[in-house]
Amino acid sequence: MGIAFIDLQAQRARIADKVDAAIARVLEHGRFIMGPEVSEFEEKMSAFSGARHSISCANGTEALALPLMAWELRTKDAVFCPSFTFTATAEVVPWLGASPVFVDIDPETYNMDPASLEAAIEEVKAKGELNPKAVIAVDLFGQPADYPAIKAVCEKHGLKLISDSAQGFGCTIDGKHPIEWADVVTTSFFPAKPLGCYGDGGAIQTNDQEVADLLDSLRIHGKASQADMDAAGYSGHEAKYLNPRIGMNSRLDTIQAAILLEKIAIFAEEIELREKVARRYNAGLEGHVLQVPFVKEGYQSVWAQYTIEVENREAVQKKLSEQGIPSAVYYPVPMHEQAPYRRFPKAPGGLPVTEAKKKTVVSLPMHPYLDEDTQDRVIEAVKTAV
Ligand SMILES: *Cc1c(COP(=O)(O)O)cnc(C)c1O
Repeated sequence: MGIAFIDLQAQRARIADKVDAAIARVLEHGRFIMGPEVSEFEEKMSAFSGARHSISCANGTEALALPLMAWELRTKDAVFCPSFTFTATAEVVPWLGASPVFVDIDPETYNMDPASLEAAIEEVKAKGELNPKAVIAVDLFGQPADYPAIKAVCEKHGLKLISDSAQGFGCTIDGKHPIEWADVVTTSFFPAKPLGCYGDGGAIQTNDQEVADLLDSLRIHGKASQADMDAAGYSGHEAKYLNPRIGMNSRLDTIQAAILLEKIAIFAEEIELREKVARRYNAGLEGHVLQVPFVKEGYQSVWAQYTIEVENREAVQKKLSEQGIPSAVYYPVPMHEQAPYRRFPKAPGGLPVTEAKKKTVVSLPMHPYLDEDTQDRVIEAVKTAV
């Protein structure tokens, strides 16, 4: 049997009956757009991470764009983000005409380096061409970014903080979710993410009522909120035909919400199962590879990826593949080296850690249902390959 990099069928085998019944219920009631499962799931999400508001949307990319729209980002505004991340983190910034500014990462966690962030903000301020507005920190591979330090930098400079938790939904620092620090937390329900649906999906969390109302409006074509209706004295008509702002169409399908309701019910347990796999991998691989994942004291990763560092990565991957072990590289070309992003500013001194790590990182099979025999096969194969 081939080994799966992420085995979604193993999870499906566990909850297939419930998921099929949930989908059947939606087919029956027929409210495919903003049906009752959508708000039910949003409430479950809020309860899960202690956020006051959860606003679902079409995918994790638009989850990042919507708060930037709510804050009215414009040309000449700067948004600081890592380069060592999935494209979407930076992609949404030029959508609004604003400029990403790329920041280096910590060599142990691969997450945003607060010192590089601080230096980048100082330099942008000194140059005076762009206005620093926001920071997007990423919970790469599932580990929370250093929110206490990043939040302090944001407060010092008066910047908004987004947690791009597409890979990290459920992660914590001393038991607290990123919403404890971030103005807005975004996530993705792309099938391969730790909490994934069976298609595209995403969500935004915030504790700020005003921002939540704006996000709810923006995701549905800038439809009127109750406050907008009252202010306009516009009663007796549907809110969606009064549009006080320019929004977009970014809704979570009811069917996906119904699936997610079943998945979030077992999510906490799945995080524990992933943690067990990671610990066992660590024990088997420590000392045999350049670096096994380092998780900071008090930090809980949700292990979207289990990523090690090796020399001669290509040869190692080839040997793994010959033994039926899939592997993947996140990310071979960091954002600041991709053609459309090269023109955007970088932290002073460039991004030496990002540029070093892109050559050595490789991710191994990881999911909650990876049994011990399969883990041992992966561990042995890696040991031989290196
Ligand atoms: C997957 C991902 C996204 C985008 O999510 P989609 O749902 O695919 O749009 C954004 N940021 C990070 C870090 C991701 O890994």
